[in-house]
Amino acid sequence: MKEKKDITRRGFLKLIGKGTGAAVGISLLDIPGFQKLLADELAHVPVIWIAAGSCTGCSVSLLNSLSPTIQDLLLGEVVPGKHVALEFHPTVMAGQGDQIIDILDKYKAGKPGSFILAYEGAVSTKDHGVYCEVGEKNGHGISTLQHLLDLAPKAMAVLNVGTCSSYGGIPGAAPNPTGVKPITDILKEKGIKTPVVNIPGCPPHPDWIVGTIATVLIGGLGALKVDKHGRPLAFFGKNIHENCPLRGQFDKGNFAKKFSDDGCLYELGCKGPVAYADCSTRMWNSSTNWCIGSGSPCVGCVEPEFPYVDSMLNKVDIHAATAPSTYPGIITERGSSIGAAATAVVGGAVGLAAGYSIAKSKNSENEKEE
Ligand code: SF4
Ligand code: SF4
Repeated sequence: MKEKKDITRRGFLKLIGKGTGAAVGISLLDIPGFQKLLADELAHVPVIWIAAGSCTGCSVSLLNSLSPTIQDLLLGEVVPGKHVALEFHPTVMAGQGDQIIDILDKYKAGKPGSFILAYEGAVSTKDHGVYCEVGEKNGHGISTLQHLLDLAPKAMAVLNVGTCSSYGGIPGAAPNPTGVKPITDILKEKGIKTPVVNIPGCPPHPDWIVGTIATVLIGGLGALKVDKHGRPLAFFGKNIHENCPLRGQFDKGNFAKKFSDDGCLYELGCKGPVAYADCSTRMWNSSTNWCIGSGSPCVGCVEPEFPYVDSMLNKVDIHAATAPSTYPGIITERGSSIGAAATAVVGGAVGLAAGYSIAKSKNSENEKEE
């Protein structure tokens, strides 16, 4: 008999908290009655996963989930007595043919708010979305656009898993021949008001996916705090550049001129200064390493602009030239701390000395938005 494994309270806190810095002030842990909710029973919420135009990397990333493992997530229990019911996933489900399309029909005709709709990949809109279809009915393919329009109004929430469904990503890059649009825009145009949460990334970290789903299961949608791009702040509240181990090299003006050189990767096109995710602290592949740690510039895969108009290797402007959040506070001669604005000026001076354009001094894009 299979041993049952739950995400323990401790495990959930670890999952959520791994990349959460005090400086961000994230509040998943501020959920009213959070401690009690963890102990209470959760609602049994089915998840319908549609794979639109994608490389399937987001599914592969989810399958790499370590804590909990994907087996525990789907076959075990999230909390005692409850597990995630992945009712439909075209890549990993065993069923096929009419049998599985009937599942979708059941939810399309079902009562509103009874399931979570997860969308991976880009949704084409040109020519009624004919460029990407999942399944067929009466001999006609069903576009992922049509599935979205049928399922989204009935879903409790739409989770856009990955940058393609969130913002268009690589399939939506110019010249965008299939008319890919962010799902948020498609729903808005159709007047569908179902809440949308974006979990971008190319691919997204498995913790970002599992942690977001678990948070919704435990605390409801109200437990998620998101930024201006609809991303959960718990995972996307930190600026890569502010928390990069090479930030000292940037401040010293020590830049790599070619791949494999020592130094900050800014001149090789690093998008860390404009990218928001907790990669530097959470890290990837079971906390083994991350992009910059392995010598690659951050390509800003979590940002709406990805893959960037000209080139992923072009330099970006520095918009948030503050001292790294990992540095200790700055103490003046009289013993008082320099405020955020003054810190920005200091950071700005460093950036200017290094010869880079300071668009504007502010602590972070996200803070400005709030
Ligand atoms: S530019 Fe990139 S490599 Fe350099 S400090 Fe910032 S995030 Fe790190
Ligand atoms: S470091 Fe940058 S490119 Fe790498 S996963 Fe994080 S956001 Fe994406």
